[in-house]
Amino acid sequence: MITLPIDIEAVKGFMAPQEGAALHRAALSVDGLGPCLEIGSYCGKSAVYLGQACRKMGALLFTVDHHRGSEENQPGWDYHDPDLWDAAAGVMDTLPFLRATLRQAGLEETVIPIVGRSGLVARAWGQPLGLLFIDGGHTRHAAETDYRLWSPHIAPGGVLAIHDVFPDPAQGGRPPFEIYQMALASGLFEEEDAVSSLRILRRAREKTRGGAALA
Ligand code: SAH
Ligand code: MG
Repeated sequence: MITLPIDIEAVKGFMAPQEGAALHRAALSVDGLGPCLEIGSYCGKSAVYLGQACRKMGALLFTVDHHRGSEENQPGWDYHDPDLWDAAAGVMDTLPFLRATLRQAGLEETVIPIVGRSGLVARAWGQPLGLLFIDGGHTRHAAETDYRLWSPHIAPGGVLAIHDVFPDPAQGGRPPFEIYQMALASGLFEEEDAVSSLRILRRAREKTRGGAALA
């Protein structure tokens, strides 16, 4: 089992311990792990699992969220948490909770929060990624935007992780499952691990012939 620098049970969020452990393993499995990026920070639960692996590997983790919550986090919906409601502003605000988690976990030198809508942040992104974790909005538009704009940044040998993949529609919404299928259909990724609703896919390493890398 992995040792985490914080009582992870006490961190609000949506990541089961076995899923978190699989994410952590996936990051450790990437040779020469480069920068990693997570979409959907919420209060930092998955960022601790990933961040701890990045710390060991000397890599940075960028974690992107507008911090206003997804649809299902809004008042009146199933996954609303009134502690995260900024009454004065009349909006959700998970950023202070993320910052507290990172501070308590000693990960402020490893995990860099980016506050903004993922589609907007993608406009300015140019770094190859060792691992991309998609756990943001679950509408078709949000999930497809995350897959289309971000997955091309995954380096050869890097990992694409997707959360909330439910093959059975009775278990949950379709968009994360659909982008998972798009990734497999692209021929660029192969599935390596599946734990609950988490899927771990790897982008093929560059093929070599006679020692020379092929583009
Ligand atoms: N990974 C977290 C859970 C993420 S919940 C954990 O381990 O607990 C999903 C998060 O995605 C919410 O915090 C929501 O604000 C964010 N989100 C939804 N749509 C987004 C978008 N288009 N851009 C950035 N963040 C988004
Ligand atoms: Mg999720």
